[in-house]
Amino acid sequence: MAQPQAQSERRTNWTNLLFFTLTPLASLILAPLYVYYNGLSWGLVTFFLVCFAISNLSITCGYHRYFSHRSYEVHPFIRWLYVFFGSGAFQGSVLQWSTDHRRHHREVDTDNDPYSINKGFWYAHLGWILLTEDPRHTHLRCHDLEKDKFIVWQHKHYPWIATFVGFFLPGLVAWAIGLGFWAGVIFGGALRIVVSNHSTFFINSACHYIGRQPYTDTNTARDSFIMAILTFGEGYHNFHHMFQADYRNGVRWYHWDPTKWWIGTLSFLGLASKLKRVSKEDILKAKLQMEEKLLVAKGASIEYVASLRQKVVEAQARARALHEELKRMKSQMEASIQGSAAAVKFAQIKRDSRQATEDFRNAYAQWLAYQRAFQPVRVR
Ligand SMILES: [Zn+2]
Ligand SMILES: [Zn+2]
Repeated sequence: MAQPQAQSERRTNWTNLLFFTLTPLASLILAPLYVYYNGLSWGLVTFFLVCFAISNLSITCGYHRYFSHRSYEVHPFIRWLYVFFGSGAFQGSVLQWSTDHRRHHREVDTDNDPYSINKGFWYAHLGWILLTEDPRHTHLRCHDLEKDKFIVWQHKHYPWIATFVGFFLPGLVAWAIGLGFWAGVIFGGALRIVVSNHSTFFINSACHYIGRQPYTDTNTARDSFIMAILTFGEGYHNFHHMFQADYRNGVRWYHWDPTKWWIGTLSFLGLASKLKRVSKEDILKAKLQMEEKLLVAKGASIEYVASLRQKVVEAQARARALHEELKRMKSQMEASIQGSAAAVKFAQIKRDSRQATEDFRNAYAQWLAYQRAFQPVRVR
Protein backbone atom coordinates (compact mmCIF):
# COMPACT_ATOMS: atom_id res chain seq x y z
CA MET A 1 0.00 0.00 0.00
CA ALA A 2 1.39 3.38 -1.00
CA GLN A 3 2.31 5.66 1.87
CA PRO A 4 0.56 9.05 1.85
CA GLN A 5 2.90 11.74 0.61
CA ALA A 6 3.73 14.69 2.77
CA GLN A 7 1.76 17.88 2.28
CA SER A 8 5.04 19.75 1.78
CA GLU A 9 5.21 18.11 -1.66
CA ARG A 10 2.60 20.56 -2.84
CA ARG A 11 4.11 22.99 -5.28
CA THR A 12 3.15 26.37 -6.66
CA ASN A 13 0.26 26.17 -9.11
CA TRP A 14 1.66 28.59 -11.68
CA THR A 15 -1.51 28.73 -13.78
CA ASN A 16 -3.55 29.82 -10.77
CA LEU A 17 -0.84 32.13 -9.48
CA LEU A 18 -0.70 33.92 -12.83
CA PHE A 19 -4.48 34.08 -13.17
CA PHE A 20 -5.08 35.39 -9.64
CA THR A 21 -2.32 37.96 -10.05
CA LEU A 22 -3.05 39.12 -13.57
CA THR A 23 -6.86 39.50 -13.33
CA PRO A 24 -6.76 41.97 -10.39
CA LEU A 25 -3.79 43.73 -11.96
CA ALA A 26 -5.54 44.04 -15.34
CA SER A 27 -8.76 45.19 -13.65
CA LEU A 28 -6.93 47.79 -11.57
CA ILE A 29 -5.24 49.23 -14.64
CA LEU A 30 -7.83 48.78 -17.40
CA ALA A 31 -11.05 49.68 -15.54
CA PRO A 32 -9.88 53.17 -14.40
CA LEU A 33 -8.29 53.75 -17.82
CA TYR A 34 -11.56 52.84 -19.55
CA VAL A 35 -13.56 55.16 -17.26
CA TYR A 36 -11.00 57.96 -17.76
CA TYR A 37 -11.34 57.83 -21.55
CA ASN A 38 -15.01 56.80 -21.94
CA GLY A 39 -16.74 57.87 -18.72
CA LEU A 40 -18.91 55.71 -16.50
CA SER A 41 -22.52 55.18 -17.57
CA TRP A 42 -25.41 53.70 -15.58
CA GLY A 43 -25.67 51.12 -18.35
CA LEU A 44 -22.14 49.91 -17.64
CA VAL A 45 -22.68 49.85 -13.86
CA THR A 46 -25.91 47.84 -14.32
CA PHE A 47 -24.17 45.48 -16.74
CA PHE A 48 -21.39 44.86 -14.20
CA LEU A 49 -23.88 44.23 -11.37
CA VAL A 50 -25.96 41.82 -13.47
CA CYS A 51 -22.84 39.87 -14.49
CA PHE A 52 -21.71 39.84 -10.84
CA ALA A 53 -25.10 38.55 -9.62
CA ILE A 54 -25.30 35.82 -12.30
CA SER A 55 -21.77 34.70 -11.52
CA ASN A 56 -22.24 34.63 -7.75
CA LEU A 57 -25.65 32.99 -7.77
CA SER A 58 -24.33 30.26 -10.09
CA ILE A 59 -21.74 29.49 -7.42
CA THR A 60 -23.86 29.90 -4.28
CA CYS A 61 -27.13 28.41 -5.61
CA GLY A 62 -25.52 26.04 -8.09
CA TYR A 63 -22.03 24.86 -7.16
CA HIS A 64 -22.63 25.17 -3.42
CA ARG A 65 -26.20 24.50 -2.31
CA TYR A 66 -27.24 22.36 -5.30
CA PHE A 67 -24.24 20.34 -6.47
CA SER A 68 -22.23 20.15 -3.22
CA HIS A 69 -25.07 19.79 -0.72
CA ARG A 70 -28.03 18.64 -2.82
CA SER A 71 -30.27 20.81 -0.66
CA TYR A 72 -32.97 20.96 -3.37
CA GLU A 73 -33.88 19.61 -6.80
CA VAL A 74 -33.86 21.85 -9.84
CA HIS A 75 -35.11 21.91 -13.44
CA PRO A 76 -32.48 20.60 -15.94
CA PHE A 77 -32.37 23.99 -17.70
CA ILE A 78 -31.48 25.84 -14.47
CA ARG A 79 -28.93 23.12 -13.74
CA TRP A 80 -27.41 23.78 -17.14
CA LEU A 81 -27.31 27.53 -16.40
CA TYR A 82 -25.52 26.84 -13.10
CA VAL A 83 -22.84 24.80 -14.87
CA PHE A 84 -22.53 27.25 -17.77
CA PHE A 85 -22.32 30.50 -15.77
CA GLY A 86 -20.55 28.79 -12.86
CA SER A 87 -17.69 27.99 -15.27
CA GLY A 88 -17.40 31.71 -16.04
CA ALA A 89 -16.77 32.44 -12.35
CA PHE A 90 -13.32 30.82 -12.73
CA GLN A 91 -13.54 28.76 -9.55
CA GLY A 92 -12.94 25.39 -11.17
CA SER A 93 -15.27 22.69 -12.41
CA VAL A 94 -18.31 21.54 -10.44
CA LEU A 95 -16.54 18.25 -9.77
CA GLN A 96 -13.42 19.87 -8.31
CA TRP A 97 -15.31 22.56 -6.39
CA SER A 98 -17.74 20.10 -4.81
CA THR A 99 -14.97 17.62 -3.97
CA ASP A 100 -13.06 20.33 -2.09
CA HIS A 101 -16.17 21.67 -0.45
CA ARG A 102 -17.52 18.36 0.80
CA ARG A 103 -14.09 17.62 2.26
CA HIS A 104 -14.14 21.07 3.93
CA HIS A 105 -17.36 20.11 5.72
CA ARG A 106 -16.19 16.60 6.56
CA GLU A 107 -12.76 17.59 7.83
CA VAL A 108 -13.38 21.19 8.89
CA ASP A 109 -10.45 22.85 10.72
CA THR A 110 -8.24 19.75 10.47
CA ASP A 111 -5.13 19.28 8.37
CA ASN A 112 -7.30 17.53 5.75
CA ASP A 113 -9.58 20.56 5.37
CA PRO A 114 -8.53 21.99 1.95
CA TYR A 115 -8.96 25.56 3.17
CA SER A 116 -8.54 25.23 6.89
CA ILE A 117 -8.63 28.57 8.72
CA ASN A 118 -6.11 27.12 11.17
CA LYS A 119 -3.46 27.50 8.45
CA GLY A 120 -4.07 31.25 8.43
CA PHE A 121 -6.58 33.75 7.04
CA TRP A 122 -4.83 34.21 3.69
CA TYR A 123 -4.24 30.51 3.23
CA ALA A 124 -7.98 29.87 3.68
CA HIS A 125 -8.84 32.83 1.47
CA LEU A 126 -6.56 32.32 -1.53
CA GLY A 127 -3.28 30.64 -0.56
CA TRP A 128 -4.62 27.10 -0.90
CA ILE A 129 -5.59 27.78 -4.55
CA LEU A 130 -2.06 28.89 -5.40
CA LEU A 131 -0.69 25.45 -4.51
CA THR A 132 -1.10 22.19 -6.41
CA GLU A 133 -3.62 19.78 -4.97
CA ASP A 134 -2.52 17.86 -1.89
CA PRO A 135 -1.24 14.49 -3.27
CA ARG A 136 -3.08 12.72 -0.46
CA HIS A 137 -6.41 13.88 -1.86
CA THR A 138 -6.06 13.83 -5.65
CA HIS A 139 -7.88 10.50 -5.87
CA LEU A 140 -10.91 11.83 -4.01
CA ARG A 141 -13.92 12.81 -6.05
CA CYS A 142 -17.70 13.05 -5.63
CA HIS A 143 -18.92 9.71 -6.92
CA ASP A 144 -22.47 10.91 -7.55
CA LEU A 145 -21.17 13.76 -9.72
CA GLU A 146 -18.69 11.51 -11.50
CA LYS A 147 -21.63 9.50 -12.83
CA ASP A 148 -23.08 12.64 -14.38
CA LYS A 149 -21.90 12.89 -18.00
CA PHE A 150 -22.59 16.62 -18.21
CA ILE A 151 -20.51 17.35 -15.11
CA VAL A 152 -17.67 15.16 -16.39
CA TRP A 153 -17.85 16.96 -19.76
CA GLN A 154 -17.59 20.34 -17.99
CA HIS A 155 -14.64 19.07 -15.91
CA LYS A 156 -12.84 17.90 -19.05
CA HIS A 157 -13.35 21.07 -21.08
CA TYR A 158 -13.45 23.50 -18.18
CA PRO A 159 -10.66 25.93 -19.31
CA TRP A 160 -12.33 26.53 -22.68
CA ILE A 161 -15.84 26.88 -21.29
CA ALA A 162 -14.58 29.22 -18.54
CA THR A 163 -12.72 31.43 -21.01
CA PHE A 164 -15.71 31.63 -23.34
CA VAL A 165 -18.31 32.32 -20.61
CA GLY A 166 -16.00 34.38 -18.39
CA PHE A 167 -14.51 36.77 -20.94
CA PHE A 168 -15.79 36.34 -24.48
CA LEU A 169 -19.51 36.17 -23.67
CA PRO A 170 -19.64 39.37 -21.56
CA GLY A 171 -17.71 41.09 -24.37
CA LEU A 172 -20.17 39.83 -26.95
CA VAL A 173 -23.24 40.82 -24.92
CA ALA A 174 -21.78 44.27 -24.15
CA TRP A 175 -21.04 44.77 -27.84
CA ALA A 176 -24.61 43.71 -28.75
CA ILE A 177 -26.22 46.17 -26.31
CA GLY A 178 -23.98 49.02 -27.43
CA LEU A 179 -21.51 49.19 -24.52
CA GLY A 180 -18.65 47.89 -26.62
CA PHE A 181 -16.75 44.59 -26.65
CA TRP A 182 -13.83 45.70 -24.45
CA ALA A 183 -16.14 47.28 -21.87
CA GLY A 184 -17.72 43.83 -21.57
CA VAL A 185 -14.39 42.05 -21.28
CA ILE A 186 -13.04 44.47 -18.66
CA PHE A 187 -16.16 45.02 -16.49
CA GLY A 188 -18.29 41.92 -17.15
CA GLY A 189 -15.14 39.77 -17.41
CA ALA A 190 -11.97 40.64 -15.47
CA LEU A 191 -13.33 43.01 -12.80
CA ARG A 192 -16.45 40.90 -12.21
CA ILE A 193 -14.29 37.75 -11.81
CA VAL A 194 -12.06 39.44 -9.23
CA VAL A 195 -14.99 40.80 -7.16
CA SER A 196 -16.99 37.58 -7.50
CA ASN A 197 -14.04 35.37 -6.56
CA HIS A 198 -13.17 37.30 -3.43
CA SER A 199 -16.83 37.32 -2.43
CA THR A 200 -16.74 33.49 -2.50
CA PHE A 201 -13.27 33.27 -0.92
CA PHE A 202 -14.53 35.29 2.07
CA ILE A 203 -16.75 32.30 2.92
CA ASN A 204 -13.65 30.19 3.49
CA SER A 205 -11.71 32.88 5.32
CA ALA A 206 -13.73 35.65 7.02
CA CYS A 207 -16.78 33.43 7.62
CA HIS A 208 -14.53 31.27 9.81
CA TYR A 209 -13.19 34.35 11.55
CA ILE A 210 -15.79 37.09 11.99
CA GLY A 211 -19.13 36.82 13.81
CA ARG A 212 -20.99 34.74 16.35
CA GLN A 213 -21.43 31.02 16.96
CA PRO A 214 -25.12 30.63 17.85
CA TYR A 215 -25.50 26.96 16.90
CA THR A 216 -22.19 25.19 17.46
CA ASP A 217 -18.67 25.81 18.70
CA THR A 218 -17.34 22.47 17.52
CA ASN A 219 -15.84 24.26 14.48
CA THR A 220 -14.66 27.76 13.58
CA ALA A 221 -17.61 28.73 11.31
CA ARG A 222 -19.40 31.94 12.27
CA ASP A 223 -22.60 33.86 11.55
CA SER A 224 -22.25 37.47 10.43
CA PHE A 225 -24.73 39.83 8.77
CA ILE A 226 -21.89 41.86 7.21
CA MET A 227 -20.39 38.70 5.71
CA ALA A 228 -23.85 37.64 4.49
CA ILE A 229 -24.07 40.89 2.51
CA LEU A 230 -20.61 40.34 1.00
CA THR A 231 -21.26 36.69 0.14
CA PHE A 232 -24.85 36.58 -1.19
CA GLY A 233 -26.16 35.10 2.04
CA GLU A 234 -23.43 32.57 2.79
CA GLY A 235 -22.32 34.60 5.83
CA TYR A 236 -24.60 32.62 8.15
CA HIS A 237 -21.85 30.06 8.06
CA ASN A 238 -22.21 28.73 11.61
CA PHE A 239 -25.77 27.69 10.82
CA HIS A 240 -24.57 26.21 7.52
CA HIS A 241 -21.85 24.08 9.12
CA MET A 242 -24.38 22.82 11.69
CA PHE A 243 -27.17 22.14 9.18
CA GLN A 244 -25.48 21.80 5.80
CA ALA A 245 -28.42 20.04 4.12
CA ASP A 246 -30.73 23.04 4.63
CA TYR A 247 -31.24 25.10 1.46
CA ARG A 248 -31.16 28.24 3.61
CA ASN A 249 -28.16 29.76 5.34
CA GLY A 250 -30.01 32.74 6.75
CA VAL A 251 -32.77 30.82 8.49
CA ARG A 252 -35.05 33.71 9.51
CA TRP A 253 -37.12 35.38 6.79
CA TYR A 254 -35.33 38.69 7.32
CA HIS A 255 -31.82 37.21 7.19
CA TRP A 256 -29.98 38.58 4.17
CA ASP A 257 -29.74 35.50 1.94
CA PRO A 258 -30.32 36.25 -1.78
CA THR A 259 -29.31 32.65 -2.54
CA LYS A 260 -32.21 31.34 -0.45
CA TRP A 261 -34.57 33.87 -2.08
CA TRP A 262 -33.49 32.81 -5.56
CA ILE A 263 -34.10 29.12 -4.71
CA GLY A 264 -37.47 30.11 -3.20
CA THR A 265 -38.38 32.01 -6.38
CA LEU A 266 -37.43 29.00 -8.51
CA SER A 267 -39.62 26.83 -6.32
CA PHE A 268 -42.52 29.31 -6.66
CA LEU A 269 -42.11 29.15 -10.45
CA GLY A 270 -42.11 25.35 -10.36
CA LEU A 271 -38.44 25.17 -11.40
CA ALA A 272 -37.13 23.83 -8.07
CA SER A 273 -38.51 21.28 -5.65
CA LYS A 274 -37.76 19.22 -2.54
CA LEU A 275 -36.25 22.20 -0.72
CA LYS A 276 -34.67 20.73 2.41
CA ARG A 277 -35.37 22.47 5.73
CA VAL A 278 -34.18 21.51 9.16
CA SER A 279 -37.02 21.47 11.70
CA LYS A 280 -37.54 24.46 13.99
CA GLU A 281 -37.14 22.07 16.92
CA ASP A 282 -33.65 20.99 15.86
CA ILE A 283 -32.58 24.58 15.25
CA LEU A 284 -33.85 25.71 18.65
CA LYS A 285 -32.28 22.70 20.34
CA ALA A 286 -28.84 23.58 18.92
CA LYS A 287 -29.28 27.25 19.84
CA LEU A 288 -30.38 26.45 23.39
CA GLN A 289 -27.46 24.11 23.88
CA MET A 290 -25.01 26.82 22.84
CA GLU A 291 -26.72 29.41 25.04
CA GLU A 292 -26.70 26.96 27.95
CA LYS A 293 -22.98 26.48 27.47
CA LEU A 294 -22.39 30.24 27.57
CA LEU A 295 -24.58 30.66 30.68
CA VAL A 296 -22.76 27.88 32.49
CA ALA A 297 -19.44 29.39 31.42
CA LYS A 298 -20.63 32.65 32.96
CA GLY A 299 -21.34 30.87 36.23
CA ALA A 300 -25.00 29.87 36.03
CA SER A 301 -26.06 26.70 37.82
CA ILE A 302 -25.69 23.72 35.46
CA GLU A 303 -28.72 21.90 36.94
CA TYR A 304 -31.01 24.92 36.83
CA VAL A 305 -30.10 25.96 33.27
CA ALA A 306 -30.42 22.37 32.06
CA SER A 307 -33.88 21.99 33.64
CA LEU A 308 -34.96 25.34 32.17
CA ARG A 309 -33.77 24.30 28.72
CA GLN A 310 -35.56 20.98 29.05
CA LYS A 311 -38.77 22.85 29.92
CA VAL A 312 -38.49 24.95 26.73
CA VAL A 313 -37.78 21.88 24.58
CA GLU A 314 -40.74 19.97 26.07
CA ALA A 315 -43.10 22.97 25.77
CA GLN A 316 -42.12 23.41 22.15
CA ALA A 317 -42.62 19.71 21.43
CA ARG A 318 -46.11 19.82 23.03
CA ALA A 319 -47.04 23.01 21.16
CA ARG A 320 -45.83 21.45 17.90
CA ALA A 321 -47.75 18.20 18.55
CA LEU A 322 -50.96 20.14 19.29
CA HIS A 323 -50.43 22.34 16.25
CA GLU A 324 -50.02 19.25 14.05
CA GLU A 325 -53.15 17.70 15.56
CA LEU A 326 -55.10 20.92 14.95
CA LYS A 327 -53.88 21.03 11.34
CA ARG A 328 -54.91 17.39 10.82
CA MET A 329 -58.37 18.01 12.29
CA LYS A 330 -58.85 21.15 10.21
CA SER A 331 -57.97 19.35 6.99
CA GLN A 332 -60.36 16.53 7.96
CA MET A 333 -63.11 19.04 8.68
CA GLU A 334 -62.42 20.85 5.43
CA ALA A 335 -62.57 17.53 3.60
CA SER A 336 -65.90 16.67 5.19
CA ILE A 337 -67.28 20.17 4.50
CA GLN A 338 -66.09 19.89 0.93
CA GLY A 339 -67.65 16.42 0.80
CA SER A 340 -71.07 17.56 1.99
CA ALA A 341 -70.96 20.66 -0.24
CA ALA A 342 -70.17 18.41 -3.18
CA ALA A 343 -73.03 16.08 -2.20
CA VAL A 344 -75.49 19.00 -2.00
CA LYS A 345 -74.29 20.29 -5.35
CA PHE A 346 -74.54 16.82 -6.87
CA ALA A 347 -78.15 16.43 -5.62
CA GLN A 348 -79.01 19.88 -6.95
CA ILE A 349 -77.52 19.09 -10.38
CA LYS A 350 -79.41 15.76 -10.36
CA ARG A 351 -82.72 17.56 -9.66
CA ASP A 352 -81.93 20.22 -12.28
CA SER A 353 -81.06 17.51 -14.80
CA ARG A 354 -84.38 15.69 -14.22
CA GLN A 355 -86.26 18.95 -14.54
CA ALA A 356 -84.31 19.82 -17.72
CA THR A 357 -85.20 16.43 -19.27
CA GLU A 358 -88.84 16.99 -18.36
CA ASP A 359 -88.72 20.51 -19.80
CA PHE A 360 -87.16 19.15 -22.99
CA ARG A 361 -89.87 16.47 -23.34
CA ASN A 362 -92.60 19.01 -22.78
CA ALA A 363 -91.04 21.44 -25.24
CA TYR A 364 -90.66 18.71 -27.85
CA ALA A 365 -94.21 17.50 -27.26
CA GLN A 366 -95.42 21.08 -27.68
CA TRP A 367 -93.37 21.35 -30.87
CA LEU A 368 -94.92 18.18 -32.27
CA ALA A 369 -98.43 19.30 -31.25
CA TYR A 370 -97.91 22.62 -32.91
CA GLN A 371 -96.66 20.90 -36.08
CA ARG A 372 -99.73 18.70 -36.12
CA ALA A 373 -102.13 21.53 -35.55
CA PHE A 374 -100.47 23.90 -37.90
CA GLN A 375 -102.44 24.87 -40.96
CA PRO A 376 -100.51 26.17 -43.96
CA VAL A 377 -101.37 29.78 -44.76
CA ARG A 378 -102.76 30.14 -48.29
CA VAL A 379 -101.05 32.70 -50.51
CA ARG A 380 -103.52 34.79 -52.45
ZN1 LIG B 1 -16.82 26.66 6.05
ZN1 LIG C 1 -21.25 24.19 2.35
